[in-house]
Amino acid sequence: MSVTVVGSLNEDVLVRVGRLPGRGETAIGRDTVLAPGGKGANQAAAAGRLGTGVVMVGRVGADPAGERQLAALAEAGVDVAHVRQIAGSPTGSATIPVEEGSGENLIVVVPGANAQLRPADVDVDPVRDAGVVLLQLEIPLATVTAAAAAAGGTVVLTPAPARPLPPELLARVDVLVPNEHELVTLAGAAPADRSPAELAGLARALEADTVVVTLGARGALLVPGVGPTLLQAPPPVRAVDTTGAGDCFCGALGVALADGAVPSEAVAVAVTAAALSTTGAGARAALPDAAAVARLRR
Ligand code: ADP
Repeated sequence: MSVTVVGSLNEDVLVRVGRLPGRGETAIGRDTVLAPGGKGANQAAAAGRLGTGVVMVGRVGADPAGERQLAALAEAGVDVAHVRQIAGSPTGSATIPVEEGSGENLIVVVPGANAQLRPADVDVDPVRDAGVVLLQLEIPLATVTAAAAAAGGTVVLTPAPARPLPPELLARVDVLVPNEHELVTLAGAAPADRSPAELAGLARALEADTVVVTLGARGALLVPGVGPTLLQAPPPVRAVDTTGAGDCFCGALGVALADGAVPSEAVAVAVTAAALSTTGAGARAALPDAAAVARLRR
């Protein structure tokens, strides 16, 4: 079965600085690195490395950045026939000054062409026919809702960036995959250190069918509609950069579910793939293939 991702493609503009500038201040950066990004495209790239039949639906500009996003996804084995280049809107971008030493960053996202993906654009065969459709919130909310409505298969939503979800969208989501911060925001709760049991309580209150809460180095918590919760710890890895780990998690989860894995098995695969993705710098530098995931799970 296939996986279709409907979502954002961005060019990440990473600028290394000695110290992050304050308001009104100028900092001299060391260098600029361009990297393919966007939650949607990151999920598609992760899925493309792990499985076959992965399709991306999205929009980029008719510009060199758009060409680079298309090439990077194709290189990851993703079908980009439904990523249209549109004139008059630049490819989306994320400008990210990163402080050397601390790794602290600031992020300014310009949606650009991502904002031009309309509800009518996602009522297409790859969305209707895919075994799993992966969604996030970096494209217009009306388009996310339309994609969920058009999807014939399992709908997996990463509610990031966190924002209130319309009930008609939540009703069509089969698997909601928030990180801890997004779960707390969606539940309208105060930030606090919570046990897995407390997090499961918040997840159940969202009334999604199944919730999978990603917990960074602690792994992920599966909260099914019925049945016991499961905390899946990651295998031991030397994490050097966790950027995009959540996106790799969702891409891997989508491939496993499309291949017929039960939720607990799919979460185990996703935790392993995401852990491996943290062993290289950048969101897409260390995306594992299926053989690498299988080796670590043996
Ligand atoms: P996000 O990147 O969306 O903030 P998380 O930080 O929860 O999401 O990470 C997503 C997944 O990546 C986790 O569920 C886990 O499987 C994996 N992961 C993240 N950080 C680490 C780490 N330090 N060691 C091992 N696995 C990690």
